[in-house]
Amino acid sequence: MSVEVRNITKRFGSFTALENINLTAPDGDLVALIGPSGSGKTTLLRIIAGLESFEPVDGADILFKGTSVVGNRIGERKVGFVFQHYALFRRHTVYGNIAFGLNVRRGKDRLSRKIIRERVMNLIHLVQLDGLESRYPDQLSGGQRQRVALARALAIEPRFLLLDEPFGALDARVRQNLRRWLRRMHDEIKLTSIFVTHDQEEALELADSVIVMNRGRVEQEGTPAEVFHNPKNEFVMDFLGNVNLFHGRVESGRVLFDQSADIITKSSNKTRLFVRPHEIELLPENIDNAGLPAKISRIQLAGAIAKIELTDTNNKEIFVEMSHEKYSVYKFQNGDSVFAFPKNSIVFPEDYSI
Ligand code: ATP
Repeated sequence: MSVEVRNITKRFGSFTALENINLTAPDGDLVALIGPSGSGKTTLLRIIAGLESFEPVDGADILFKGTSVVGNRIGERKVGFVFQHYALFRRHTVYGNIAFGLNVRRGKDRLSRKIIRERVMNLIHLVQLDGLESRYPDQLSGGQRQRVALARALAIEPRFLLLDEPFGALDARVRQNLRRWLRRMHDEIKLTSIFVTHDQEEALELADSVIVMNRGRVEQEGTPAEVFHNPKNEFVMDFLGNVNLFHGRVESGRVLFDQSADIITKSSNKTRLFVRPHEIELLPENIDNAGLPAKISRIQLAGAIAKIELTDTNNKEIFVEMSHEKYSVYKFQNGDSVFAFPKNSIVFPEDYSI
């Protein structure tokens, strides 16, 4: 089921937490909502779930599958919610926690014990907790508890799922495993889901589409590749990964980098050039005099790529990433003098400070 947010503004007193938000989570997609702390992600999720009100301005609406749900009660919206802190019922077993939303149903909505059992056992299998149904929350690991929380949210057969920093409290390794597991589970059940994270790597790895928020506004919406390779402004470029900022000029379509701040301040057409670490080539010689002179200050070889930090003549840091294969050509060492050749830079038209 698709979820649409239209013209949503939210104020807490005189503070505007969300300003005219418009976005769509397409049917069956896993959508990541990312942005720095305080950018309004949780507030937006709460508004979609119906837990928070918004300003009744013209055109303000929340639509599920094209139908407005603004007048609906929370229960009617049938949204599954998973928070950062699992908040399981400590006195209930895994089974009891997952069955909770079904056991409390009354009247015509009540399901038979047999159907509840079937559904709960299927969910236990889906979240890979077979055999642990009689355990209590304090007998589980953090990752297992979070999977119980997810199964509990799914038990009510929600129309879609909202996850607020679902893996935020877990350590890096468990987090990475759960990420992949969530992706596989999503591919299996195809339930439209919106998850909040401030971890850009998690968003880019996991999501079908990404919504980048900043100071209560949507900066950009698109597939992970779109927002990473075609960021709309400096904020998105910087937020989605390490980036190097250089000063330079664009002359007759050519990008000229300038390592000296003095020359730039005298130049009338100065500009800011952004280059990702993997778009910089390092060479021991200054071919065509086009390289930026720098010294290697740190080399990190553990991991899938080689990460090299340089210091330029103004003591500014430059981050470079390359394959181990490329690294092995020159085998640079700490303290080596090198030349950095930015291969691709992005220049943004407006002056938009990070
Ligand atoms: P984080 O990543 O730190 O969780 P977030 O992007 O989820 O941040 P929100 O929790 O949505 O941000 O908060 C957005 C802004 O609204 C923040 O500046 C916050 O202080 C403010 N805010 C949120 N709830 C309230 C409230 N009940 N009363 C007043 N201000 C609030």
